[in-house]
Amino acid sequence: VAEDRRLWFRETVRRLHDDIRGVAEGAPADYIPELANVEPDRFAIAAETIEGDHFSVGDCGHRFTIQSISKLLLYGLALETHGRDHVLERVGVAPTGDSFNAITLDEHGNRAPNPMVNAGAIAVTDLVEGDGLHERVATVRRMYEQYLGHQPEPDRAVWESEQATGHRNRAIAYLMLSRGIIADRVEETLDLYFAQCSVLVTTDDLAAIGATIANHGVNPRTGEQVVRPDVARDMLTVALTCGMYDYAGEWAFTVGIPAKSGVGGGILGIIPDVGGMATFSPRLDSHGNSIRGVRVFEELSDRFALHLFDPD
Ligand code: GLN
Repeated sequence: VAEDRRLWFRETVRRLHDDIRGVAEGAPADYIPELANVEPDRFAIAAETIEGDHFSVGDCGHRFTIQSISKLLLYGLALETHGRDHVLERVGVAPTGDSFNAITLDEHGNRAPNPMVNAGAIAVTDLVEGDGLHERVATVRRMYEQYLGHQPEPDRAVWESEQATGHRNRAIAYLMLSRGIIADRVEETLDLYFAQCSVLVTTDDLAAIGATIANHGVNPRTGEQVVRPDVARDMLTVALTCGMYDYAGEWAFTVGIPAKSGVGGGILGIIPDVGGMATFSPRLDSHGNSIRGVRVFEELSDRFALHLFDPD
């Protein structure tokens, strides 16, 4: 039966890739000027189980910037380094219903709403340890290396493009500085935030990252414990409730898989105790989520009963 299901899954993914590749709605993000230069019709689907069984279709080796999917990993790093209470004092866990780049804090104005929107991610980035940008970049590099199994590489053009134009993120960061949520090294923290968003990944990489989180923080390829199991659990919870921005409620309802999207066009989905699933297509909807990616996840969740609350 397991083998049948495996073959059925592969055949379905191939067919879905064929069916959905023609979807031409949406467009790549252009509020970061350099992102408008991506090839809009690249499309990939990848999956990796916690046993290391890997399967992918389409442009799965094509590299794109991880963008907001980094928020999930940085949140894990902050929890691992500082513990839950310290992080919760600065960043809440409530979904906002606002867009990912909203200039808002939580209802009391003392915390960022959640770590999956820009405010929360910048506050989490503030918690990255190290003396100066160079050391803090090294801390983030090590984290990526543990997930990827190789050195991360930034897309310098995207990094610089966001440094030059990321004024909205600056507004969010200075608002948080004024409320004492982050430390007085705002430009450095923003630079680090832009750097981690510009890291290049493939759809295959994302599926592997998902497999690590699904495996309670142990990278199945290396055997290394990247984050503690309790941290992986907290990452999964915020991914489910906040990972798809203001589409998170609908996503939890229809797809029911903890996930994180990025404006680079990637979506990372995590099926606990099973593995990671990822899509890449840079045509985005109004929430900033990949249109083809959302379609793929909806179909696969439905056909393979992957919703968390589906009966076994
Ligand atoms: N770097 C992007 C930004 O801060 C990430 C946003 C995203 O992927 N939603 O605007």
